[in-house]
Amino acid sequence: TSPVTPYPLDAPASEQLLGRARQVIPGGVNSPVRAFRSVGGTPRFMERAHGPWLWDADGRRYVDLVCSWGPMILGHAHPDVLAAVTQAAGEGFSFGTPTAREVALAEEIVSRVEPVEQVRLVNSGTEATMSALRLARGFTGRSVVVKFAGCYHGHVDALLAQAGSGVATFALPDSAGVPQSAAGETVVLPYNDVPALEQLFAERGDQIAAVITEAAPGNMGVVPPEPGFTDALRRVTLEHDALLISDEVMTGFRCSRAGWFGLEGMPQGGAPDLFTFGKVMGGGFPTAAFGGRAEVMAMLAPEGPVYQAGTLSGNPVASAAGLATLQACTDQTYRRLDQVSQALAGAVTESFTRHGIPHRIQWAGSMFSVFFREGAVRSYTDAQAQDQERFARFFHAMLRRGVHLPPSCYEAWFVSAAHGDEAVEVAIAAIEDSAAEVA
Ligand code: PLP
Repeated sequence: TSPVTPYPLDAPASEQLLGRARQVIPGGVNSPVRAFRSVGGTPRFMERAHGPWLWDADGRRYVDLVCSWGPMILGHAHPDVLAAVTQAAGEGFSFGTPTAREVALAEEIVSRVEPVEQVRLVNSGTEATMSALRLARGFTGRSVVVKFAGCYHGHVDALLAQAGSGVATFALPDSAGVPQSAAGETVVLPYNDVPALEQLFAERGDQIAAVITEAAPGNMGVVPPEPGFTDALRRVTLEHDALLISDEVMTGFRCSRAGWFGLEGMPQGGAPDLFTFGKVMGGGFPTAAFGGRAEVMAMLAPEGPVYQAGTLSGNPVASAAGLATLQACTDQTYRRLDQVSQALAGAVTESFTRHGIPHRIQWAGSMFSVFFREGAVRSYTDAQAQDQERFARFFHAMLRRGVHLPPSCYEAWFVSAAHGDEAVEVAIAAIEDSAAEVA
């Protein structure tokens, strides 16, 4: 593949926009990971996107390996999704009443993920995990929640302890503003560590409402559960009448048509009690869901005593986008995701090896990430021991060559089924040139 001519070092239009943004938006961004803090430099302000491509305010084109942090599994502005959104928007934006579209989206989710009998639609992954926790606490009458270091479940007070993603990127042990009372009800365990889990339950099992885990973690980089880990989560929670919440916000409908559950299959002892979804199921619009056994979901208002609500929940335009996206996710889509991921990861292995850059690639289905270190990454502690400085240089080398990676070494590289041969070739050439540059 021929080398890619790098863009200039500066990005005048984005720099100017960032200056304006900083006046009126803290840090100039509406979500911290967008700010390039851990890699330095100016975030690119995007103007439009199509298929695998993004165009920034300076008119430069990038291969998009962020895909809006997961949702854009079909690529940008997919014609079926665009048609569905246009049709729905033409019929009104929000009614504050039930609509057929949200029923169809719920049916689609329930039909794909076998243990999920009912879902409640919400507006973000954060709302999904927050509501799932409340439901688990209401159902069990207990308050303690167990999470794993390096797992990110959104910016829920109780779940911001040792979270991955942006919290990891900024090396925040926690967040200011989380009351001790909220953090005090959360126990954080090392991931993939069955003895630690067993010990905690032996000591405090009767206080624990739920264990929440990323189905296959992607927010400390991709660290899949080791064989037997999910089974152990199920066994221990069942033994102590606690619920198991599988957070599939990132993996749902991406790792397979039934998410990580569809790949790993039923844990020994039975399915998780609750699941959370987001990202792909909204097709780029703000919609998400939590769901599970009907018996547990019956605790929710208006049927039960656990309150949960939302002015825009089940929004018809967002539901149309999500439904059209899921319906367009065919076997061919998942095959293409596999091909693109394999091609990119293969190029990383080849170029990094050629240039002597220590690396490790890990997978959860077609979801993968590149660690700037050698050896298996089983936990957050392992993930933190990587060459973040070299990642930052690699990130910018790629950006200048027209490939937009997630601006953090703790993130998966997201691909879409619209990543065609040209996008893959540009990315592979950029990987080789960037590896040479940072070697
Ligand atoms: N859970 C997981 C596994 C996630 O990856 C994320 C977001 O990255 C969330 C929850 C929070 O979702 P949102 O950003 O839509 O609030």
